Amino acid sequence: KPLLSLRQVVKVYPTRSGDITALKGIDAEFYRGEFVGIVGKSGAGKSTLTHMISGVDQVTSGEVWFEDTPVHTLSEDQKALWRGRHVGVVYQTFQLMPSLSLLDNILLPMEFCGTYQRGKSEERALELLRAVELEDHAFKKPSAISGGQQQRAAIARALANDPPLIVADEPTGNLDTATAETIFSLFETLAERGTTILIVSHDRSLEDRVSRLLTITDGELSEMRSLR
Ligand code: ADP
Ligand code: ADP
Repeated sequence: KPLLSLRQVVKVYPTRSGDITALKGIDAEFYRGEFVGIVGKSGAGKSTLTHMISGVDQVTSGEVWFEDTPVHTLSEDQKALWRGRHVGVVYQTFQLMPSLSLLDNILLPMEFCGTYQRGKSEERALELLRAVELEDHAFKKPSAISGGQQQRAAIARALANDPPLIVADEPTGNLDTATAETIFSLFETLAERGTTILIVSHDRSLEDRVSRLLTITDGELSEMRSLR
């Protein structure tokens, strides 16, 4: 049984110059422990697809099922709670809270969902910072560290509630090769433990790392290849 299913997902953005159909009826299934790459040119619909999967935006029509949860029917509040517990979202632009330390940024989703007790939360947040090699920066604010470090902090935050699904839009786009390698290894380890990883990228080098590759072209999933 898939962890996540998309059924005929359509996304239309109404604009002043007419409707833009960003997704034209996407069908896809994702299973536990899959490490899936989604590639496509700029404007193909990659970001829109991640927004539909993580529930940060509404589908125009079609269905998004997360196990037995019809995500497309949830209210915004219900979706925020559901997402907090089930989806770790890594945004291209990090979206860390500028006024909070890295540690507090990671504690935030744990507190929002009441996942752990306070002492346990801190222990886990520090563990996550260690996993992305940021333990020495735990008490710094995002502005005090580099872009690559912010990206790693954003990944640590996405892992805070130990979600079964991680959705990352260009997670290594701002990182040097060595740091990108660290991040990919971390994702691989998570996938081996059963976490489903969806990584969006325009970078074809992603192909070597993933277990499945989807190509999105002009709002359609045009190709699916199993690589291992
Ligand atoms: P990608 O991530 O592959 O670059 P996007 O999902 O961002 O593609 O965009 C797909 C299409 O939808 C593009 O034509 C883009 O201009 C359009 N689009 C994306 N977001 C919006 C929006 N908020 N309003 C209007 N059009 C949008
Ligand atoms: P990228 O294509 O680099 O992945 P995004 O799709 O994340 O970038 O776009 C950044 C922001 O701009 C998003 O909020 C998206 O909805 C919005 N956006 C993208 N394309 C358009 C568009 N054609 N018109 C209006 N907003 C857009």
